[in-house]
Order: sequence, then structure tokens, then C-alpha cells
Amino acid sequence: MGYNYEDETDFSDSEFTKYAKKPYEDLKAGKYKVNVNGRLRCPFCPRKKKQDYKLEHLLQHASGVSKPSPNKSAKQKTIHHALAKIFEE
Ligand SMILES: [Zn+2]
Repeated sequence: MGYNYEDETDFSDSEFTKYAKKPYEDLKAGKYKVNVNGRLRCPFCPRKKKQDYKLEHLLQHASGVSKPSPNKSAKQKTIHHALAKIFEE
């Protein structure tokens, strides 16, 4: 068992597995449309008005939502963390 000191998020691996594993795998499989005609959008925030991100903005959005906040659900945070992970790979 190893510890990952680089992980600064406040959710555990089990939360990630519970909430984000499936969306993460679906993202990797291309089931979520992130890039539409060269425009990036967040597949987890369909009701957001602005869906025309540059890569850096989408990353900012994803890492912003994955930060700890009492107003956001664990699911919202973890799936956005998954989204950020996709682009880090
Ligand atoms: Zn989003």
C-alpha cells in the first residue's frame, strides 16, 4: 500500500470509485462529448450557458469544481476531478 502525497483533493479513493469511476471510464471511452467541433465543453454541466471552453478554461473549471466546498456534492467534485485527470494524462 502506498500513499500518494501529490493528491491534494479531499475525497478518498473509495469516493472516487463510487462516484467517478464510471464517468471516468466513459470519458476515456469517448461516451461523453467533450470536444464538439473543436469547442470544448463540460459534459457534466449541461445546463451551463457558456459551453465554449478553451482547454485551459475547461481545466480551470474542472479543477475549480473539484475543490472542496460545502455547496457541491461529492459526486460533482469527483466527476470533475475525473475530467481534469483525463487531460492530465
Ligand atoms: Zn462542469
